[in-house]
Amino acid sequence: MAYAIEKEYGLYIGNRFVAPSSNARLESLSPLTGEVLCVVPDANAADVDAAVSAARAAWPKWFDAGPRKRQALLMKCADRLAAEAERFAWLETSDTGKPWRESLANVHTAADRIRYYAGACRALEGNTLPVGGTILSLDFREPLGVIGILGAWNFPLNMFAGKIAPALAVGNAVVYKPAEPTPITTLEFARLMGEILPPGVVNVVTGNGETAGAAIVAHPGIRKISITGAVETGRRVMAAAAATGKQITLELGGKNAQIVCEDADLDRAAQGILLGAFMNQGQVCTSGSRILAHKKVAQALGEKIVALIPKLKIGDPFAKDTTMGTLCYREHMDRVLDYIAIGRREGATVLAGGGRLAVKPFPNGLYLQPTLFGDVTADMRIAREEIFGPVATLHTWDDEDAMLAESNGLDYGLAAGIWTRDFGRAHRLARAVEAGRVWINCYNLFPSGAAFGGSKGSGFGREDAFETMLAFTQVKNVVADIAAEQRRFYE
Ligand code: NAD
Repeated sequence: MAYAIEKEYGLYIGNRFVAPSSNARLESLSPLTGEVLCVVPDANAADVDAAVSAARAAWPKWFDAGPRKRQALLMKCADRLAAEAERFAWLETSDTGKPWRESLANVHTAADRIRYYAGACRALEGNTLPVGGTILSLDFREPLGVIGILGAWNFPLNMFAGKIAPALAVGNAVVYKPAEPTPITTLEFARLMGEILPPGVVNVVTGNGETAGAAIVAHPGIRKISITGAVETGRRVMAAAAATGKQITLELGGKNAQIVCEDADLDRAAQGILLGAFMNQGQVCTSGSRILAHKKVAQALGEKIVALIPKLKIGDPFAKDTTMGTLCYREHMDRVLDYIAIGRREGATVLAGGGRLAVKPFPNGLYLQPTLFGDVTADMRIAREEIFGPVATLHTWDDEDAMLAESNGLDYGLAAGIWTRDFGRAHRLARAVEAGRVWINCYNLFPSGAAFGGSKGSGFGREDAFETMLAFTQVKNVVADIAAEQRRFYE
């Protein structure tokens, strides 16, 4: 079943689509056919200002409504999203090229994230301090006000829901900018939330990072920036946010190791590595693409992965059993192809894949073969740089300390996977790897409530968890003296 996509969207401000202040537009192209799916405003500073004004007017009342009311309304948003899961999954697949079954799972994860925060905000408490005597010290958690949020293109709906929900749950209003290639589900979900939430609580401006995004980061009415994106972008945004003293959360890229020990269940590891490296066509910040396999099992593991790759169903992403779709946009696919060429030039061996694919019914779709490189050494660019596509590298080791040095030797520190049957070793390695998220005998599981985020160059701040919500609040401390009479200090 196909659903409608608007040919032209406006900016979503104050619960309605409004015309931008200029004629500048961006096109969202289909990764399946190359056709224009829709055009959206390329917002400028005046448009951002209008969105911030709506958000500033909205948040005090939204906060005053109290957690019970906010919970009820956010739950309604989640229920409406889940009720329309098939439509949202179809829109997501149209805009990103990801397989329908992943899009559908993403919609339900998005609804779950909102429900988590809707419930969690009821548990927010302040502290009292036992000062003694007649002095009271009371902490109140208050929202920051207006939050500016910049999303990446790989999980557009999930990211939108997961990033705005903790901010909204504690009484902030948001101005959100989706990434340039994939604005559709963000705009459609904002429209749906606008039927439930007060005007101005959720605002969406579309546009280029260097202009619309930069205007959000610079706006003096915004108190905090939360960005998911590439490392270089995060650093640029952090420097710009400093000019107006904004707080910041950085969810950035990764180059994540999957450590396979000699005692691992290799069938299980091969399945997990397939998911880790090729889910969402490898366009995942946690992509477990750096496979560090013990020398005794590396060849057998490589053979198992190569044997599993043909079982991936690459094809029409709308078909319910397709497990791999297209890359998201042409320039990005070209970048991934460049990395495959670099790997060949560096002397790595292509064990599987290595090029484009023409697949029915979208012969011009941006399909790439799932690719595995062998004979990889730690100094190669394909072993060090984030490729963000369906490309994995197989490395070997026989000394655990040297393996850990390789695993931790990059400036990234987002995620890692550990495959072993030895419980103690699994936990020792989990403590030793420099990563914000470690999976043991599984990969790419993201339960709501489990703190997610990077260390080192991969960023700081945590998402998906209770503490995410706290990071969108500030403590106001009130000290009161309940003595019957005023103390006399100067007599
Ligand atoms: P990107 O860095 O190009 O853009 C991210 C967002 O920032 C976009 O909305 C963009 O428009 C905006 N932006 C770009 N330049 C800006 C500027 N100067 N000022 C303000 N805003 C600006 O990233 P992308 O290509 O959309 O996403 C891919 C990257 O995101 C990868 O590196 C991936 O690993 C990372 N990512 C990280 C996580 C995580 O949770 N850690 C999740 C998904 C993706």
